[in-house]
Order: sequence, then C-alpha cells, then structure tokens
Amino acid sequence: MTETVGLHHVTAICGDAQRNIDFYCGLLGLRFAKKTVNFDDPETYHTYYGDGLAAPGTAMTFFPWPEERRGREGAGLVVGTSFAAPAAALGYWTDRLERAGTKVERLVRFGEEVVAFKDPDDMSVEIVGRASVAQVHPWANSPVPAQEHLRGFSGVTIAHRDTAATARFLVEALGYRRVGEEGDRTRFETGDGCLADRIDLLRTDDDDDDRGGRIGVGAVHHIAFRAPDRDTLYAHAADLRRHRIEATPIVDRAYFHSLYFSEPGGVRCEVATDVPGFTRDEPEEFLGQSFKLPVFLEPWRGRLERTLPPIHDPNA
Ligand code: ZN
Repeated sequence: MTETVGLHHVTAICGDAQRNIDFYCGLLGLRFAKKTVNFDDPETYHTYYGDGLAAPGTAMTFFPWPEERRGREGAGLVVGTSFAAPAAALGYWTDRLERAGTKVERLVRFGEEVVAFKDPDDMSVEIVGRASVAQVHPWANSPVPAQEHLRGFSGVTIAHRDTAATARFLVEALGYRRVGEEGDRTRFETGDGCLADRIDLLRTDDDDDDRGGRIGVGAVHHIAFRAPDRDTLYAHAADLRRHRIEATPIVDRAYFHSLYFSEPGGVRCEVATDVPGFTRDEPEEFLGQSFKLPVFLEPWRGRLERTLPPIHDPNA
C-alpha cells in the first residue's frame, strides 16, 4: 500500500470568476498563484490560490462555470472544505468575515474551534483552529497579517449514506488512520499531523435528503491526494487496480502529473505529484500575473484572451 501524506489540492466549481478571486484572495488572503484554463475545456479558466507557492496541501482551485447549473452539497460529495489556522487566529477570522458581510457560525468539533461560513456561491468553507499548524511559504501583498494566515487545508468532509466502503478505502488504499468519532462524523488522518491531513466522513440519514449531492456551481468537483513524484503515481495506480478501482492513465497537468479515479462512494479523486509545481513557468515573485497556457494550447492564446472575461488579482 502506498501511503499519501494528505491532500494536494481541492477543486471546486464557481460562478463568477472575479467574485470568487475577490473572496478567496481578497478576503481569505490566499495568493492568486496561477491563471490558466481548464486543459480539458479550454474555453474556461482554471484559477489556483494558495500559499506563496500554492504548494501541495494549500492549493484551492476553481473552474468558473457561470452557465453551469447550481450544485447541491449532499450525500456522495464533499460537503465541506476546511482551512487550518492557528487556534489564536479564530477571533481575527470571525471579525474579518463578519465585517465583510459573511455570516459566520462558530462551533466546536473534536475539541477544536471551527469558524464555518459559505463562499459567494454558497459552498461550505471552514477555518479550523489547530494546535499545530504547518509553515507556509510567505509572500508580499497578502492582506492578512502573517500570524493569522491560513496554513493550508485542514481537510475535507465527505458525506455518504453508507460510509463503510469509503472508510475501508481510505485506510487500506491510501494509508489513513481512523482517529475518532463524534456523532455522525468519523475522522481519518494521515501525514505529519498538521497540513491537509484529515478526511472526515459524515454519515447522512436517508430520511434527511434523499436527493443526495449534485455537482455544479458551489460544489467541490474533485479532491487530489499527494504523491511526491511520478514513480509514486505508478505505485498508486497499481494499488487502485488491486482494490478494483479503475483509474485513468497518468496525465501531464503542466504543474503536476495526475491520475483520476472515483472512490467507492463515488467522490471524484485524483492523485497529483508535488513536482514540478507552479514556478515551472513563472518565477515565484510573479506567480499568477500572466495568463499561462500549456504548449498544446498556445495556438489558441489569441482567441482565449479575446473570449475569456478579464480577471485581476485584488492583492497585486
Ligand atoms: Zn485536480
């Protein structure tokens, strides 16, 4: 079994691209780290936010699909994306969000304080106050003071009516450990204990919502687990075959290599390499400032620059 150290990135669908950037970069203070297109659907953007390098474990990415139908968080999908922050920063975050008109709910889960809110497309986001947080790569121009910075993901919550198969898969195929249970929520952890190391499985009641989740605007599209390099991706591919899970061939995503699969409960997943990362085609100090395309899409640059709506980094 090839263990992952946690999440590499989370990719979700948003409506208006600029409104999304203003929220995640302007308000949450993430760095706008890459402006490119969806390689499988080049008429739409793919935006990446994170720490100073949008390093693995910090990278939140979006497909802005304003024409797409609305999504619905529910069984069969990721229903919460959690960022980590130092526990002492949660007061700052509550104030900052409320001043911006974002309704905030404060709760305690597994003994930790959590600030829960919705992004502009109604997607569930949380900031979890953690006792130990990861070092992140700093960068100039963040609107958030360094000590309050988000420190990458804490993890995600996946909802299923029956969580057993997914739980087994996390443990047996990816190396997660079951670490606790609180109500309908079971927690799994892997890695170093602070960066993007958690998956919570939430058991949903059949009677609550028999419509289940639906991918669309305001829903997570897929989650990616970390692999250090391509050799490890091949090892994951072999593991997935042993668990009778069909995965795609390994594809070159310019900033990482990836394979894709659905976990036993149906959530779309990816394994992505830590290398080469986002400085592959832009120096660290200029990340996110130019429109980047992979070589095979360069012939369409002129057309894409004319048709895609202009977007800008509020922190530039
Ligand atoms: Zn991805």
